[in-house]
Amino acid sequence: MTLPEAETAPSMPELPEVETLVRRLGPRLRGRRIAGFESVWPRALENFTPVQARRRLGGARVVEVGRRGKFFRLGTDQGLWILGHLRMSGNLFLGLPGAPPPRFLRHRLLFEGGSELQFLDARKFGRLRLSEDPDLDLAALGPEPLERGWTAAVFSAALRGRRRQLKPLLLDQTFLAGLGNIYADESLHRARLHPLRNSATLRAEEVRRLHAAIRRTLREAIRACGSSFDFVYSTLEGRPAGRFQDQLRVYGRAGEPCRSCGTRRVVRIVVAQRGTHLCPRCQRAPRRRTHS
Ligand SMILES: [Zn+2]
Repeated sequence: MTLPEAETAPSMPELPEVETLVRRLGPRLRGRRIAGFESVWPRALENFTPVQARRRLGGARVVEVGRRGKFFRLGTDQGLWILGHLRMSGNLFLGLPGAPPPRFLRHRLLFEGGSELQFLDARKFGRLRLSEDPDLDLAALGPEPLERGWTAAVFSAALRGRRRQLKPLLLDQTFLAGLGNIYADESLHRARLHPLRNSATLRAEEVRRLHAAIRRTLREAIRACGSSFDFVYSTLEGRPAGRFQDQLRVYGRAGEPCRSCGTRRVVRIVVAQRGTHLCPRCQRAPRRRTHS
């Protein structure tokens, strides 16, 4: 599947938001039999038409609802999968029979009995794909940060091999799957590392700090059901779907006091075209290398 342009395209629902959706929807979707598919924005369908979806998915039963990076994946008993990326404003809901269609409804996976999985997307950057082999289609993705196999030693070797600034590297989905602008900034702040540090210059202790900070940040965010901003990742009634936005230490807090040291204000800089938030005291800037 085409990965979103990691460094330039914002991708707001990140790992914790997709994980929350998948955990919520999984028990309610598993076992349902697919009766149809409809789309009012077929440009979002990467490799199929609504007619093809109806033909290939009709009669199949949902057996798995999962996540890989920021992608969600729905597996059926026919061996066919639906892969999706919410990009900037996508959201998933289970629509019940008789309920009026919500605003920004773009695609509907219809089930026998009248319920449906609704794909809402105000800005229409979301994508869907049919896949016979999701592991192959998502093979370009880097490791899952919450998996047991992603150890500090594995992370350390990967950092040394890349020699890149930390912020764009953490956003690169082929390096590590699931982090976007919010959780990259929050992880770097918790690890007390400047976003412009070169990945190959980290000491062993700093690598361990960053590794632990990424995991802690993601776990805390999942516990809080993710972060909501404005209409992005909200309930159908427009309320925030997550609570982690209240615990953010730097993201979106430029000009406000740092929640760690309390003595400096959070600063916003631009790194690789992305707004980047940091505390100049807790996250010391790397010394500039002199070029001869
Ligand atoms: Zn600070």
